[in-house]
Formats: sequence, structure tokens, C-alpha cells
Amino acid sequence: MNKISLLSQLTIILVRPKYPGNIGAAARIAWNMGIENLIVVSDQLPEREPMAQMATHKAAHLIDNLRLCTTLPEALAPFSIIIGTTARRGRQRIIERSPREIVETILPQLENNRTALVFGPEDSGLTNEDLKHCQLLSAIPTADFSSLNLAQAVAIHCYEIYYGIVHSQKDMLPAPRLASSFELESMYSCLEKSLTQIDFMGEKSHTYWMNNIRQFLAQTKLSSKDTNIIRKICRKFLLNSKTKNINHNGAP
Ligand code: SAH
Repeated sequence: MNKISLLSQLTIILVRPKYPGNIGAAARIAWNMGIENLIVVSDQLPEREPMAQMATHKAAHLIDNLRLCTTLPEALAPFSIIIGTTARRGRQRIIERSPREIVETILPQLENNRTALVFGPEDSGLTNEDLKHCQLLSAIPTADFSSLNLAQAVAIHCYEIYYGIVHSQKDMLPAPRLASSFELESMYSCLEKSLTQIDFMGEKSHTYWMNNIRQFLAQTKLSSKDTNIIRKICRKFLLNSKTKNINHNGAP
């Protein structure tokens, strides 16, 4: 894969954006930097005219081809690398890094892994529920006032990615293909059921344990095969404990 075609592995995801003009401005800067995949998570397709005005005719194809998803998990299903972005410093579980540091981390992985950059709504940003799907967290360093306009935050990320790719070393060794978000989510769901079965997590601390498990497993860079192994272990475990319960309850 040549360097510039690595950009096709990237998708900008705007979660519940409020202003169609910001979607248009985000589409324009994405296309300035060679990124043409855009997903909007919303209940309905935003009005075309204000989006198209800000996108200009050069980036209108991003608006016309944008994919609409009603939920973030649906949007994220095919992606293996998921980067959340945030203006809120030090309030999340995942350690935040600057966009430049994030680009250094993902560059060797881009060739084999579809990558999503996720941006939150203008007023409230990404929720903890949104962030639980993200393996990396990017925060643009700023002075005291840390909240950028949505499209400007998209701009800085797209520029750093473009610059990082163009200036990357030619003989970078590509990293292997990682599990997709769909495979990871189904593994986490099996894990959660198994841990619930053995009463490992108290009723109130489900989120605590599952977020921590997500964080440490995210660092191990699991492949599809790895997630399958964990899923199979959990299924067998659940099946066995179900059979034991039936035998136990059914015993004279
Ligand atoms: N009040 C919100 C700001 C939302 S701004 C908050 O505290 O999070 C809309 C979106 O722009 C954010 O969800 C994030 O995706 C992006 N953004 C804004 N400022 C940013 C920053 N300093 N670093 C990274 N992303 C930022």
C-alpha cells in the first residue's frame, strides 16, 4: 500500500452533531487532508444545504456519501482501531495523548486496520458510554480554555494524520490485523455474562469492572483469533455451569 492510500483506512465519525454547518466544515477539512469517509451518528439525516454550504462543492461528495448510523456501536462495528477525542482533561480512564502522539502509535497499524476517529457533540462531548468503545483518547493540548469548535478539532486531527503519513519512513513494518469492534464487543458481552454467573462483580460495580477489563485488554491488541478463543472459553464455561445448576437443582 502506498503512503497516501493509507488515508482510505480512516473514517471520521461525528456523534450526534448539533449543527449541520459543523458537519460540512468537518467534511471540507477531511477532504483537504485526503480523508473521504464520514459517518454521522444521529436519528435522522441532517439538512443537506447547510452542510453542503460549509463543505463547498469540492467536498460535497463526502456529504452526499455520508453514512448515517443510529448508534455508535453500529458505526464502529467494522473498525479495529478506535480513537475517541475529548476536550475534558484527566477525567477519563484512558490516558489522553496529543493527536501527534496518537498518530505515531497508529501509523504502523494503519495498513491492516480500519481506524475510526470519533468526535462528540458540540455541547457535551462524548459520554462515558461512547468512550468505553475507544482504545485511545486524543486531547489537543491547549491553554486554559480546552474546548475547540468541533470542526476545528477535526481539522487538527486530520492535519496531524496527513502530516504523519506523508513524513513517515518508507520502510515502516506494518503491524498485524487486529480484532474488529464487533468481535471485541461480542467477546466483552460473553465475558460479562461469565463474570456475572460466578458473582465476580457486585451489582453496583459492573461498569467499574467491565471498564477496567476493557482498558487492560485494549492494551494487549487482540486479534480475531484471540477474541474467538476467549469467547469459546466463556461459552463453554456458561454451558457447564448451566448444566451443573440443572443437575444440582434436579438431584433428588
Ligand atoms: N463541552 C464539551 C466540548 C465539546 S466540543 C466537552 O467538554 O467535551 C465537541 C467535540 O470536539 C468534542 O467532543 C471533541 O470530539 C472535539 N474537541 C473539542 N476540543 C477538543 C480538544 N481540546 N481535544 C480533542 N478534541 C476536542
